[in-house]
Amino acid sequence: MFSKVLIANRGEIAIRIIRACKEMGIRTVAVYSEADRNSLHVGFADEAVCIGRSISSDSYLNISSILSAAEITDSDAIHPGYGFLSENPHFAEVCESCGIRFIGPSAENIRKMGDKVQAKETMRSAGVPLVPGSAASVTTKEEALEVAKKIGYPVILKAKSGGGGKGMRVCHSDVRLVGALFTAQSEAEASFGDPSIYIEKFLVNPRHIEIQIAADRYGNVIHLAERDCSIQRRHQKLIEEAPSPALSARLRKKVGEAAVKGVRHMNYRTVGTMEFLMDANGEFYFMEMNTRIQVEHPVTEEITGIDLIKLQIELAAGEKLKIRQEDVRIQGAAIECRINAEDPENGFLPCPGTIEFCYVPGGRDVRADTHIYSGYRIPPFYDSLLAKLIVRGETRQDALRKMHRALGEFLVEPIKTTVPFCQQVLNDPDFQRGTYHTGYLEKFLRKEEESI
Ligand code: ADP
Repeated sequence: MFSKVLIANRGEIAIRIIRACKEMGIRTVAVYSEADRNSLHVGFADEAVCIGRSISSDSYLNISSILSAAEITDSDAIHPGYGFLSENPHFAEVCESCGIRFIGPSAENIRKMGDKVQAKETMRSAGVPLVPGSAASVTTKEEALEVAKKIGYPVILKAKSGGGGKGMRVCHSDVRLVGALFTAQSEAEASFGDPSIYIEKFLVNPRHIEIQIAADRYGNVIHLAERDCSIQRRHQKLIEEAPSPALSARLRKKVGEAAVKGVRHMNYRTVGTMEFLMDANGEFYFMEMNTRIQVEHPVTEEITGIDLIKLQIELAAGEKLKIRQEDVRIQGAAIECRINAEDPENGFLPCPGTIEFCYVPGGRDVRADTHIYSGYRIPPFYDSLLAKLIVRGETRQDALRKMHRALGEFLVEPIKTTVPFCQQVLNDPDFQRGTYHTGYLEKFLRKEEESI
């Protein structure tokens, strides 16, 4: 096992990883930018190194600073968390060539899944059902029109190297498609440095079902059931739950097996997530794979009792999976709400500033993964996630009640947060029944726009 792990991240996920390391008897090194000098991850780690200025390109994305920090502290592994360098194949490669273990997949696997077109091609050859679409990226409007004609409208344009819901455009007609192609290409170039666009059939109101998988270096692959991440705003997840209210045990087995089949095909050796869209008939289609720990991993931990970060570290250290598929038990239900520093009444505008007073709920079955405290200054440089509020219940109904209770206790004065919006969703009969899909939040947002 590693003796010292450097955490190349910040915020709640840095703390989450530090906690796992401490419980495993591993020493920890935090890295931080100037803006994060007073952050909790800096204080919680055994050692801390400042890696540069506040802007992430100078710090959390600065490969040479991070590697120097690892070298001067004699760290033997780096955990990248999510975002930042977690899906950067070059970073994974450089770590390994410096003799520092990258806690994640091989650079080759990251590269393959980071290219969305290649990812789909890999899954096609593994026999995993795909969202219909272009087999390669499209460059000209003629190519785009031809694909749209073949698969039929509506279609969605997506960036080949994309992520975070950026650069996606839904089109219902030839005219729209031609107009959107150029905008999508420029947006993709600006966000990802790659203008390549591919086209998919746009499924109307599907559910976003993702399967958590875990694999070791010895060919063992298991899945840890699904998360339903259909509650999204602008293709960004806001509330997640496990298990999905829309999946029967039979369907869970089917999607889970497809995910395992895909992962087995690529020699994967860590934790990861296979994302699918599922239509109203229970047909599911592979969309993409995330080769890192996900923001929403805690809901899986709560229903399976498995600590995914510890598992990820063990797998990186070369340990064998201790659990077999038949040992995976799902118990109860878990829900996660993302508490962002955003104003739901004002188009979810980010609200950085100083937290004068905060109270983070706890109590039985309530878990808050967060880095905030009273007096904490939310820097304007990074994402707006303040906390993940996670509850587990014996049943989904029980979990809903616990989330309702916990959200009511959450105080982050005077910062505007997504707490009231999450409460509104939680009170909605469709959410309570579990009959929602990826387009479900639109009705709230329209209401909100009208009230402005
Ligand atoms: P990103 O990697 O940028 O987050 P994803 O490919 O994971 O993008 O898609 C994010 C969300 O966008 C999905 O959860 C879904 O709601 C929507 N989406 C993406 N592709 C499609 C599609 N073909 N049909 C319908 N919705 C889609």
